[in-house]
Amino acid sequence: MVSYDSANIFAKIIRGEIPAVKVYEDDDILAFMDVMPQSDGHTLVVPKAPSRNLLDADPETVTTLFAAVQRIASAVKNAFNADGLMIVQYNEAPAGQTVFHLHVHIVPCFEGIELRGHATGGFADPDILAKHAARIRAALQKDS
Ligand code: AMP
Repeated sequence: MVSYDSANIFAKIIRGEIPAVKVYEDDDILAFMDVMPQSDGHTLVVPKAPSRNLLDADPETVTTLFAAVQRIASAVKNAFNADGLMIVQYNEAPAGQTVFHLHVHIVPCFEGIELRGHATGGFADPDILAKHAARIRAALQKDS
């Protein structure tokens, strides 16, 4: 496997070098809105520990990541009153991975509404993403 490259865009977001519309942050995890959402509320959950994807991640990182995914997924579902959630994690380019720092997609699904394409649906309005993030943060607070 190719080794981890700390110049990837999520590593830059974690280091605070480029902005993101943040939903949640602690010592180990950062969650933020996907800039090309497949549906309203599409959130990415990222461990701060460096790994390219699931295959080279420490088991402890995976455990911490999926505990956060479960908690944030519940808040996303509540915030958007979603009928379901798609939880996706891609490993390597042929599988659809485009950013090579481990991350999990939380994509709200709604009866009768088709999802937009993966990383092809166009950039969302940053003001709308900020409003969506605020809804998820409020739902997270309610759950805690
Ligand atoms: P993938 O690596 O295929 O799982 O997808 C990476 C995801 O990151 C895509 O859904 C992109 O829309 C999203 N993305 C890329 N750059 C950014 C960014 N700067 N902030 C938020 N999301 C991003």
